[in-house]
Amino acid sequence: MPIATDLGFCIRAVLLVVWTMASPLLAFATEPDTVDALLSETSKHLYSAPEKALAPLEKLSALQPAFTPSQKERYHLSLANSLGFRGQHAQRVALVQSFIGEVTTPGRRASFLYELIDGYTSLGQYEQALQALNESIALLPVLVKTGDKIAVLQAALAATIAFEDYEVALDFAERIYALRGPDKPGTYAACVGLTDKVELHFMRGASAQARALLQDAIDVCKTNNNPFFVLINQSNAAVDQINAGDYAAGLASGLPLFAEHAAINQGSDYVTQLEEAVARAYLQMGNTERAEHYGLQAYQRAQVSKILAMQVKTSKTMAAIHRAKGAPDRALFYYDAHLALRKQLLDDRLQRNLAYQRVRFDTQDRANQQALLEQINKSLGIEKALQQGRYQNLVLLMTLGLVVLAIVGAWLLRTLQLKNRLRKSAQVDGLTQVCSRAHFIACAQQVFRDTDQDTSLMLFDMDFFKTINDTYGHATGDWVLQAVCHTVQQQLPKTALLGRLGGEEFAICLPQFSAQEARALAEQCRAAIANIGAHPSGLNLEIRASFGIATRSVQGPASFEETLAAADKALYVSKNEGRNRVTAYQHSGAHST
Ligand code: GH3
Ligand code: MG
Ligand code: MG
Repeated sequence: MPIATDLGFCIRAVLLVVWTMASPLLAFATEPDTVDALLSETSKHLYSAPEKALAPLEKLSALQPAFTPSQKERYHLSLANSLGFRGQHAQRVALVQSFIGEVTTPGRRASFLYELIDGYTSLGQYEQALQALNESIALLPVLVKTGDKIAVLQAALAATIAFEDYEVALDFAERIYALRGPDKPGTYAACVGLTDKVELHFMRGASAQARALLQDAIDVCKTNNNPFFVLINQSNAAVDQINAGDYAAGLASGLPLFAEHAAINQGSDYVTQLEEAVARAYLQMGNTERAEHYGLQAYQRAQVSKILAMQVKTSKTMAAIHRAKGAPDRALFYYDAHLALRKQLLDDRLQRNLAYQRVRFDTQDRANQQALLEQINKSLGIEKALQQGRYQNLVLLMTLGLVVLAIVGAWLLRTLQLKNRLRKSAQVDGLTQVCSRAHFIACAQQVFRDTDQDTSLMLFDMDFFKTINDTYGHATGDWVLQAVCHTVQQQLPKTALLGRLGGEEFAICLPQFSAQEARALAEQCRAAIANIGAHPSGLNLEIRASFGIATRSVQGPASFEETLAAADKALYVSKNEGRNRVTAYQHSGAHST
């Protein structure tokens, strides 16, 4: 969904606006050339015309020895921001990394973390970006200003959009909207939250839901006296009309918006998006001159902003325009560019998705923890309010009781958890969370001793796993092992036991499983593993495994050790006969399928 990705980047562009509006830096200069005045001038320009911020930044650089700690923070933040605008993300990240240790105020720290998130994302270092995001989400409960909270949530939302997880992004939009306060329809949180919700519904392809909220979003942002967000909604509405094939209406509502964009923020990615849509509308209506005019502007703007998804889209539109104009050479030029950019986008997307899969669980965990903490904070607030009421003493006593209970409970829980964790760490493989080798062998031996019915062992070893490590890196290899265990686990009955024998080799103990049943299950696991790489997010890794099974039975192997050795022989046959297959050990030899 190319539009989706475009819009996603637009949300990122909005971030700066959110932050600037939330920060007190926007106070306009009254005394020229004092440090504060220069800082205000810088942030004012960063928001509207970033290149104009260079001059005051230059002047500030000379005044550094005289900075107060707070001025030093503001200066570094503006400098990082400006480096971002100039596309110098490596310097931007290095600057923030060298300075962020000194920043202790949560609101400020969140702003610096945003610079890291955006910088790392632009550099394609997605894991680091997500880690910075995690840290910024963790700051939420201690942030006091609603503006700071919105900015953190907006950064999280933008990042999850970049990773195409729209459902999680919608959660963040809801949380922004929830900050609007009671009976205040026109607050900033309501405007940003609703605008986000509309965009996200468009991205998810849920146009009807988006349209249902659109007018409300415009009205709320008007009440909030927020022309930029009104404009964002109007631009999205015009693009939606064009995408839906209503070209004349889309042009009628879209064209007047360019002047408004120019007055507010000419560099906004929404302008590129609107120009591209307008070009397509003109093309459809047969006006190739106007189509080329807007298409070229969009194309050039996309080149400057270096946003890949926009470059992909605008180059395709330009190819279509030139084809319609009867200029095949020009059309071919743009089409070639389009294909190259598209390949780059898909590669980039693969890396992004891989990083996201690896860090996602952690992120979600923290998001849940945050929700919990906020809930606790809210309950504490309610208790406080109650204390001031008629049942003050009673509530106080009850609260005291609860606190004592909570402390004792927490202590007990901690002790139990610690014991549990120590026991578990010996029994569970740290990476995949399946049984460790020693624990698996001990349990399986017990199973073989406890029952004299048919019991099967299934071994599997990943095929050409070294290639995955070599091609995509060790971290991706780790992720594959986790995904494989998770997938296999889902295929297994409750009585089965999965263990990691070492490296990329695993074993499954199947109590009361005949040879035939074990073979069917192994076939199912093999197919499920082969399917992991066909994930819709664009991962097309070749993930395969070879299987060997053996069954302890009257005429076959008798002990656990013998059965394991037999399964290992069968696995060896699978590897030899071409991999990605199941072989069952038979007394007379092994037969693969
Ligand atoms: P074959 O199909 O013959 O099994 O080929 P292969 O490449 O899978 O086999 P080989 O034994 O040559 O390589 C196994 C690789 O698995 C080498 C090792 O670095 C990698 N590996 C083992 N444990 C881990 C781990 O925990 N994480 C990662 N990422 N790689 C691991
Ligand atoms: Mg292997
Ligand atoms: Mg191996």
